[in-house]
Amino acid sequence: MPISENAKAVLERRYLARNEAGEPIETVDGLFHRVADAVAAADAVFDPKADVAATARAFYGMMTELDFLPNSPTLMNAGRPLGQLSACFVLPVADSMEDIFDAIKNAALIHKSGGGTGFSFSRLRPKGSTVNSTGGVASGPVSFMKVFNAATEAVKQGGTRRGANMGILRVDHPDIMDFITCKNNTSEITNFNISVGITESFMEAVGRDGMYDLVDPATGSSTGQLRARSVFDAIVTSAWQTGEPGILFLDRLNRDNAVPAQGEIESTNPCGEQPLLPYESCNLGSINLVNHLKRTPEGYTLDQDKLERTICTAVHFLDNVIEVNQYPLPQIGETTRATRKIGLGVMGFADMLLYLGVPYDSEEGVALAREVMDTVNTVGHQASRRLAEQRGPFPLFSQSIYKDGAPLRNATVTTIAPTGTLSILAGVSSGVEPVFAYAYIRNVMDNTHLIETNQILKDKLLEAGVYSDALMRQIVEQGSLAHVDGIPEEIRRVFVCAHDVSPIWHVKMQAAFQQYTDNAVSKTVNFPHSASREEVAEVYRLAYTLGCKGTTIYRDGSRSEQVLNIGKVN
Ligand code: UDP
Repeated sequence: MPISENAKAVLERRYLARNEAGEPIETVDGLFHRVADAVAAADAVFDPKADVAATARAFYGMMTELDFLPNSPTLMNAGRPLGQLSACFVLPVADSMEDIFDAIKNAALIHKSGGGTGFSFSRLRPKGSTVNSTGGVASGPVSFMKVFNAATEAVKQGGTRRGANMGILRVDHPDIMDFITCKNNTSEITNFNISVGITESFMEAVGRDGMYDLVDPATGSSTGQLRARSVFDAIVTSAWQTGEPGILFLDRLNRDNAVPAQGEIESTNPCGEQPLLPYESCNLGSINLVNHLKRTPEGYTLDQDKLERTICTAVHFLDNVIEVNQYPLPQIGETTRATRKIGLGVMGFADMLLYLGVPYDSEEGVALAREVMDTVNTVGHQASRRLAEQRGPFPLFSQSIYKDGAPLRNATVTTIAPTGTLSILAGVSSGVEPVFAYAYIRNVMDNTHLIETNQILKDKLLEAGVYSDALMRQIVEQGSLAHVDGIPEEIRRVFVCAHDVSPIWHVKMQAAFQQYTDNAVSKTVNFPHSASREEVAEVYRLAYTLGCKGTTIYRDGSRSEQVLNIGKVN
């Protein structure tokens, strides 16, 4: 198995099945057999004569070769009693005490199983409105978010991984200003990512510097007006200060809502890549692009045939997951099976560019993004159509936006996930992000510092005859190759890191992937510490113009507990 020691350690620590005493009862190889067997078993549901063992071998091979990995909950739970296999859920939050606390309970069950939850708080009446039954005063969305946050914090201690939440508030909710700044104290609401749900009429009001209406969701009537530009500036200022809130273009999510008759899409999962209907869940999986390169005498090229084969097996895998999944609530099972959404995406895109010798921040890089994702989307949809011929279309197909075309097995096929853990397991750059750093210091034991180097760069520098420890130390200290002497220009231009890539290129890349993705793209636009608010505003406007479904930005150093630091020797 080509899996690294580091990846093995991650699997052993968090993913292996354990007995009651907490001791692992399987090996890493056993884990992949468990997952392959459990997921392949679904074939027999549709065809009693299916060669389940052959499917299991194909799934096992695809995972152990690290060509494709399903999202973490599938790795952790497939073939085990819990059996909850999806990473993404959206739960409704209706405007009553009962509904609010039901949502908290349901979220806790989902977090316990390794899934993440998204909520729109837009239906809650604003702070200060009356509560009919008691004559009291309502606390408002932000106050309730703190309760959701506390519940997540408690479950975190018992679960396999951190519970993660997305909190959305529409820009026309009367409490929007409180929401925009609710995470400015960075020690609060830490188990949430937050995003403002932006409407097209709001963006239009920003453009003409107009006023827009705030609407009380309980009554449907206007409670007043705000100047759109002031609200937009407040969002930008807060994001510039703390990285939050992000923005989400609600009208755009709903334009791609595959089954509008099922209701409106109001929220996404925690990292923003999966818009879902209330009570819907989605399972994700990512293709490792580095494994889909082939070496020719002229250098590396994309192995189109292998990529197409992996896409087909991956769609088969993800559709099977819907079948064998044990849903945390009956209603989630029903809603999910009605649309059968899956989210196939990619990881290792930036590493692929390094092998191909193409800079991330270039027209050629963006063109390659389009080419690769066009293939994943087109071939993915073909695979889903073939499954529909064998297994039937998703039950709500006749009410879907696809009803006049060939039947599809899945209402959505593609999503670009962050691949936070999967990319570590596969040993490649995460999702479609540029490489964050090419060399960094790892504090192994007290005062023992190891320089960890990106292997692709190391090989390239060795080949060019310029590799040295001193050079690597300079790269660590400067956080980038951009100003390190002694590196040939053609290497410097290709090996760009997240901070060398200008925010505009980050957005262009996100937009290129979005163009060929049914759901959305997980992406953070990185800014240097010195960036101005106007630069952030420009990126938000560009994301809107280029057709992104939302944006998340992060300015270096703007949060004290930042996980990855550039240029810091610890
Ligand atoms: N997620 C979560 N908790 C985590 C990480 C992820 O609930 O600690 C969910 C969340 O919905 C996120 C999705 O899993 O959007 C996919 O994240 P990622 O691709 O990083 O997960 P992986 O499969 O690599 O663990």
